[in-house]
Amino acid sequence: MHDSNTPVALVEPENSGPAQDRPVKKVGFVSLGCPKNLVDSEVMMGMLSHAGAKLTPRAEDADVIVVNTCSFIDSAQQESVNTILEMAKLKGEGRTLVVAGCLVERFRNEIQKNIPEVDAVVGTGELEKILSAAGIAPAPDTTSPFKILTSRPEGDLRASQGRFSREVWDGAIADLPNYLYDENTPRILATPGHTAYIKIAEGCDHPCTFCIIPQLRGQFRSRRFESVVAEGERLSRTGVREITLIGQDTTCYGEDFGLKDGLALLLEKLAQIQELRWIRFLYAYPNKITGKLLETIAAHEKICSYIDVPLQHASPTALKRMKRGGGADVFLRMIEKIRRIIPGVTLRTSFIVGFPGETEHEFEELCDFVREAKFDWMGAFGYSDQDGAAAFSLEHKVPAREIERRRKRLMQIQRQISRKQRKHLVGTTHDLLLEGTSEESDLLLEGRTAMHAPEIDGKVFVNDVPEDKNAQPGQFYRCEIVEAHDYDLVARIL
Ligand code: SF4
Repeated sequence: MHDSNTPVALVEPENSGPAQDRPVKKVGFVSLGCPKNLVDSEVMMGMLSHAGAKLTPRAEDADVIVVNTCSFIDSAQQESVNTILEMAKLKGEGRTLVVAGCLVERFRNEIQKNIPEVDAVVGTGELEKILSAAGIAPAPDTTSPFKILTSRPEGDLRASQGRFSREVWDGAIADLPNYLYDENTPRILATPGHTAYIKIAEGCDHPCTFCIIPQLRGQFRSRRFESVVAEGERLSRTGVREITLIGQDTTCYGEDFGLKDGLALLLEKLAQIQELRWIRFLYAYPNKITGKLLETIAAHEKICSYIDVPLQHASPTALKRMKRGGGADVFLRMIEKIRRIIPGVTLRTSFIVGFPGETEHEFEELCDFVREAKFDWMGAFGYSDQDGAAAFSLEHKVPAREIERRRKRLMQIQRQISRKQRKHLVGTTHDLLLEGTSEESDLLLEGRTAMHAPEIDGKVFVNDVPEDKNAQPGQFYRCEIVEAHDYDLVARIL
């Protein structure tokens, strides 16, 4: 996450589209938040480039600066506002400042009122408006955005119960986004050319009481099956070798158009694309991990044996207040099943500590569960109050210092587990996707194995490359793990 004291980094686009003869507007992009938001940035960059704009990673060169914001939790909102203010300082004559993303869905009317330097806002459901916001005429053949009209019965029920209502939010508009890009929407990757995210669904129907994503992003809707496959094929033709499927909940994929085991079928189909080497998905919902999904992962070498399932807590009473259900026993049975069907699977999860009313006993249940489950990767986040989320009005809030104490304690438990898990890897061999020179030292290279999803998991430093190997970023090499640290590994290329 961006800290307000460090300079804001603009997105470095991989390919910025066709060169133009006429004077072109230069657009700089700051993308905050999660990979789902990054894909929105990539789609907006694609539309701009397609309409003749040139993308620049240098804010001072830009005629138009776009800040694509995040509004998931308080600190993300604050970071978004700080970034807008920082970019507003660069507003010289003729330079346009556009704010896009989740913060617009939450505070649409307030943003321009409170930050007059902002010239235009673009919500998550109207990405095509980036063109008029930037003062750029659409290209004649710009594909119109794909409006999704399907929904899940669960989502319709929750809608009737007010789950998606924004009535209490000052400054938001009533309409929920229903947009999703498709395979024809221009898109410019901001990730290195060998790896790409594909957003397969948008929105969420779950009732988690700490979360306002459903109000920000709307009801769950999936992209058409053929559209995702076509995008996977197109990306593979441009050199992408690793695909990461994302959505607020990837495991519900296809349910809105009556597809059973939609994610498993999609993975199976993508695994047939010859040029792709690794396919994975993030953000599984615990009770949506089916036997068919696990068997599909186990059956295909290209589908990484990697499951990211944010569990949020392990105490049944805390989970009940979170409106998520489940508990340590149910989760341990699920983990046992996952490990039985996919031997050697890498498991990632994340938890929220200090949820309102979290007792010492509930927290201990969580600690015991973490000790027993032995995740490969784990994130722990301190609860933060979010106006508009159901948990906002819950009593018995845990003091901030106590939340931080619990978060650190949970991370400490996981650190010991992680250290042991990594030690076991020394001497084992893996395929490694080389990413380039390490950010830590020019003397080291850096890469990932199938156990490491892009950006979120630890790193693999490469300290030895045989002389006859010309190690190239974006290529796969066989490697041996030679050293293990708490989270990171050191490997030599074989
Ligand atoms: S599953 Fe829960 S936490 Fe995740 S986006 Fe949906 S409501 Fe939010």
